[in-house]
Amino acid sequence: MDRYRVKPDSRVDLGEWDPNDKSAFPEGKSEGRKRLLELNQRLEELQELLYAEHKHRVLIVLQAMDTGGKDGTIRHVFEGVNPQGVRVASFKKPTPEELGHDFLWRVHEQVPGKGEMVIFNRSHYEDVLVVRVHNLVPKEVWSKRYEHINGFERLLAEEGTTILKFFLYIDLDEQKERLQARLDEPHKRWKFNPEDLKERKLWPKYVKAYEDAISKTSTSWAPWYIVPANRKWYRNLVVGTVIIEALEDLNMRYPEPEFDPTDIKIE
Ligand code: ATP
Ligand code: MG
Repeated sequence: MDRYRVKPDSRVDLGEWDPNDKSAFPEGKSEGRKRLLELNQRLEELQELLYAEHKHRVLIVLQAMDTGGKDGTIRHVFEGVNPQGVRVASFKKPTPEELGHDFLWRVHEQVPGKGEMVIFNRSHYEDVLVVRVHNLVPKEVWSKRYEHINGFERLLAEEGTTILKFFLYIDLDEQKERLQARLDEPHKRWKFNPEDLKERKLWPKYVKAYEDAISKTSTSWAPWYIVPANRKWYRNLVVGTVIIEALEDLNMRYPEPEFDPTDIKIE
């Protein structure tokens, strides 16, 4: 999955990334679906181990343009995982109380504890994306946030949190199709938000904001992955595989009991 990891201090130009790429799993959709079922099972085992060992923390950040597939990724990649073992934190427009604090205040509260896996559906990155595109704070303020984000994520990492950040990359044509599907299919209509059309017009500004954010904050302790996301099955495989590989690298072990089970006799 190295091919999708953004190297620290490199400059991202999204024009050089292919949202249709399927080079890591060229077998195609039906094989891909089978493979995802295997990933689901492995993720379930690893999540249980994470919980049992109670040592590591795992934070997964999902960012994307509208219709990019954050919800679908959560649904499909984590299918099969014990719902008690993962938590999703969604970051919407900040409340007045949240706006009264620094931008990381509401975020820090949601980070995982030991043995926990937390998925951020949107995140502190909104504070250098939508906030920048819409000038919600002056440039002097948002431009300093990249450093704050790196420092914050470094703190989490040094205290034992594995951080994986995914940008689900779709292109403008794919977004058009997905928005149209939300209009055409009655059961998807609730997801259609006319505001999304205004955001769509700002696509080039979002691209610039994403390129800057990813370039400045892909670090050794909290790497970004740019996931080709025009194909949903491929996107799911990439995200699932990256997470599983990272969990396997933790070399987790079930804790040894503090008693000798052969000594115990249940009457
Ligand atoms: P999504 O679009 O993520 O699937 P949703 O459609 O259920 O979620 P929305 O209310 O459309 O819910 O999405 C949340 C909105 O909140 C987005 O438009 C996002 O840009 C905005 N938002 C999130 N964080 C911030 C922030 N820090 N400042 C301003 N706006 C924010
Ligand atoms: Mg939305």
